[in-house]
Amino acid sequence: QEAQNNTLNRLAAIGQLSAGIAHEVRNPLTSVKGFLQLLHKESPHTYTEIALAELDRAIDTLQNLLQVSKPDQDTEPFREFCLYSEIESILYLFQDKLYTVSVKQTFENPDVTIYGKRNQLKKAFFNLLKNSFEAIPEKGEVEIRQYVVGKFLYLMIRDTGVGIPDEKMRLLGTPFFTTKTEGTGMGLAQVFSAIYQHGASIDVESEVGVGTTFLIKFPIVKDKRLGVTKLELVQTESDR
Ligand code: ADP
Ligand code: MG
Repeated sequence: QEAQNNTLNRLAAIGQLSAGIAHEVRNPLTSVKGFLQLLHKESPHTYTEIALAELDRAIDTLQNLLQVSKPDQDTEPFREFCLYSEIESILYLFQDKLYTVSVKQTFENPDVTIYGKRNQLKKAFFNLLKNSFEAIPEKGEVEIRQYVVGKFLYLMIRDTGVGIPDEKMRLLGTPFFTTKTEGTGMGLAQVFSAIYQHGASIDVESEVGVGTTFLIKFPIVKDKRLGVTKLELVQTESDR
């Protein structure tokens, strides 16, 4: 928990600066993109196509940075959705990995619906699962487990991947921290931001060569126990 608070504080500090930069750079890039698109339409060329794709990548990075550095300004409304089917549809995106990675899913309450920022959370689960799959060099296992204990809904994502060395642990969630050659280092920053926006918490446990476990703990406000059909998450200050 303390580690998470540190991360959030650091994010807030980094956020002030990076949000400003992201804004200033994103706007001219967006207009460059517009002109490039016009050019490309007039005379299609592989070079303009590549330039456009690279621009999209840069704009996307800035967009992510803006999103994680100003979580309070995220305006996505809270809505009700089924956690289980959301995870199912995310897993579908990793189909090609399923030959080498076996996925174990245990949903104590598969019908459970949660009340939250759907896109934010989808992106967060996607980022966590992506990291898990990427942490497994050859064969391994990813386990997704959902359960309820007391007033909390837990979502655990565990992998038998490479693990995270102790000295890297405190860097998790810092924008641009990555150990991958093709990494962006924005995944966990987005995850932490989404978790924060739901008044939830996240814990990480990892052992090099054994694997990593992320445990998300959502506070339940209402729990209509009859068949457990609805769990409502606490809204953060900014959502009221
Ligand atoms: P990226 O995936 O682009 O590197 P992330 O923010 O998603 O950025 O992750 C940051 C870093 O945290 C990764 O580069 C990796 O070193 C480490 N990491 C995150 N999740 C895992 C995991 N499940 N197993 C091992 N390392 C992880
Ligand atoms: Mg990632």
